[in-house]
Amino acid sequence: MGFLTKKRALIVGVASKRSIAYGIAKSMHREGAELAFTYQNERLRSRVEKIAAEFDSDIVVPCNVESDEEIEAVFEHLDDYWDHFDTLVHSVAYAPKELLEGDFLDNVTREGFHSALDISVYSLLGLAKSARMMMDGRNGSILTLSYLGAVRAMPSYNVMGVSKAALEASVRYLAYTLSPGGTRVNAISAGPIRTLAASGISNFRNLQNSVAEFSPLRRNVTIDEVGDCAAYLCSDLASGITSEICYVDGGYNTIATAG
Ligand code: NAD
Repeated sequence: MGFLTKKRALIVGVASKRSIAYGIAKSMHREGAELAFTYQNERLRSRVEKIAAEFDSDIVVPCNVESDEEIEAVFEHLDDYWDHFDTLVHSVAYAPKELLEGDFLDNVTREGFHSALDISVYSLLGLAKSARMMMDGRNGSILTLSYLGAVRAMPSYNVMGVSKAALEASVRYLAYTLSPGGTRVNAISAGPIRTLAASGISNFRNLQNSVAEFSPLRRNVTIDEVGDCAAYLCSDLASGITSEICYVDGGYNTIATAG
């Protein structure tokens, strides 16, 4: 029997089989969780439906996280299937491509900054707000995805680093706020993995090369490894862990110099 048997998880952020959220769904399904999925827009709908079917799920709901109405509708829809659920996985980020290259200050704009913070950070709060009623009292768990650029300045990551810093602070405030209802809140700070979102970062190959060369494990991590850590963090095995940023990056964050 898997360690997520009888747990129900809503996964937000599957776009392809390369998505970190796909790796998380795979590990959670293997450990016995029942899954539901959202998709960003009609272009992604059939792909996410196929992925959901692979995990024995037919609960697939639209959710562009820029819309409060769409966020609320997710939980109204979910309520038709589940009277409660245990886990919310938030694996969503976006910034306009032109802000993810070159000079941070030259390229940042008010509009781009708002959009990055809205989609990559407020979305976690909006989803948690609407999920609260269905998660309270369940020893539930919320998980989001961060990156080292939250705490270190890195070339090209720019406004996304600012967004991840705000996301990690949001994890701490959410953990503090939701603990009376029994819900734990954590983030995984994953090493660089080639996904659709990663393709928007201009020097992404260099980031991966640096991890392969200098991290203690001397290689990059996979979505399966992030998925296994996510399954653990969202399970009762991690009942004492909340408000943490857990690195799944081959130890790269612990080295002082690259070379
Ligand atoms: P991905 O492209 O597979 O996933 C990003 C998801 O965000 C997609 O499913 C996309 O549909 C969703 N999204 C973007 N805008 C949205 C919107 N307006 N409404 C709803 N959904 C929206 O890429 P990924 O790398 O799996 O990214 C998932 C998370 O992991 C992100 O938070 C990313 O910052 C984080 N992360 C990625 C890496 C990496 O190297 N790939 C490393 C650390 C953290």
